[in-house]
Amino acid sequence: MDVLVVGGGQAALATGYYLQRARRRATSGPSAPGELGRLSFALLDANPSAGGAWTAGWDTLQLFSPAGFSSLPGWPMPPWTGEGNPSAQHVRDYLSAYEDRYQLPVHRPVRVRTVTRTTEGFDVVTDRGVWRCRVLVNATGASRPFWPTYPGMDAFAGRQLHSAGYRSAADFDDQTVLVVGGGNSGAQIAADLTSRPTGETAWVTARPPRFLPDDVDGRKLFELATRRVRAAAAGDPSDPGVGGLGDIVMVPPVLAARRRGDLQAQPMFDRVTPTGVAWNDPPRQLAADAIVWCTGFRPDLRHLAGLALTRSDALPVTDPPLPSRSVDDPGLFFLGYGDWCGPASATLIGVGGVARASVDAIVEQLRELGDRAG
Ligand code: FAD
Repeated sequence: MDVLVVGGGQAALATGYYLQRARRRATSGPSAPGELGRLSFALLDANPSAGGAWTAGWDTLQLFSPAGFSSLPGWPMPPWTGEGNPSAQHVRDYLSAYEDRYQLPVHRPVRVRTVTRTTEGFDVVTDRGVWRCRVLVNATGASRPFWPTYPGMDAFAGRQLHSAGYRSAADFDDQTVLVVGGGNSGAQIAADLTSRPTGETAWVTARPPRFLPDDVDGRKLFELATRRVRAAAAGDPSDPGVGGLGDIVMVPPVLAARRRGDLQAQPMFDRVTPTGVAWNDPPRQLAADAIVWCTGFRPDLRHLAGLALTRSDALPVTDPPLPSRSVDDPGLFFLGYGDWCGPASATLIGVGGVARASVDAIVEQLRELGDRAG
């Protein structure tokens, strides 16, 4: 393959769209010297079905933005006729139809285990054999649940789960549930649990939760991310915009819960006890049947361990003029994980721009390689 894309979520599909377009252009018409004669590529996705992270969300998970502002390149997301913003199922259906529409060569389930550098490109070892490519695009998402460590966690007698494993409030009938985490998952899951007819919900956050203004949705977050990245590029990394990207978007269920007075956060506890959690100062305890850790995800880059990449804050360092490209290797790209690899590239609306710039650079690089080989 010229290009292998690891992943099959929204970032991988946006990359696939531009690769498909480049392939069509390369094969329509005679190829002049220096032109790309053909382009071969594939997407390798560990998930058994289309949808990336949207296959793992809870039942009431909704997009931050309306359908019209949640589109991948080429084909707008079909309108959503339900209440609020589109559901996770709507996004899954859209991503699945998107793959079909552009005939993207997605192979699944295929999990990439290790990647090694060769003189020609990369050897990609998967659970379904070895692939070889000249350019590697990583779009594996922030799909590794992060569990913090608190004293006493192991001795808790109730149920502990990460937000990745949360499905429905109905699974916790009559129970007292403690939700940990002040981000969007924490707020949405706490709001979901407070809608139960029976049972208690407590919400604890490391810092007071920051609710974005009611009218700030994914559109504004996209503008904010773009503004921040531009400000940082111009030497002002401090422009905070209207709020942090981790701040809570007031999707209808969260807004409704806050208006009911149900979203009152408590400060972080000091330890977990066998029956709940405890604070030291002033001393107090809270009994709980279950703890839902909404403590985020980390990028899944374990398969790249052998490449010994330069890292900053544990993330691979990328090249500022093209923020998706690794500083260590011009044939290695990262798409979708967060602003560090392209403004708003973790969003449906934002990933298209950086995917396009990346594919332009990839095509250019393949041309140069072809010229050298010729
Ligand atoms: P993913 O969707 O995680 O896809 C990665 C894929 O790579 C998965 O299929 C995985 O199986 C596969 N993979 C991982 N490792 C390997 C491997 N070694 N080999 C092969 N395959 C592998 N985003 C928006 O755009 N709009 C929103 O409104 C929005 N709302 C959100 C609300 C909440 C509460 C949360 C938590 C997130 C929200 N997001 C939203 C963010 C969005 O869910 C993710 O940012 C997005 O899914 C990331 O897409 P991705 O393609 O980068 O990764």
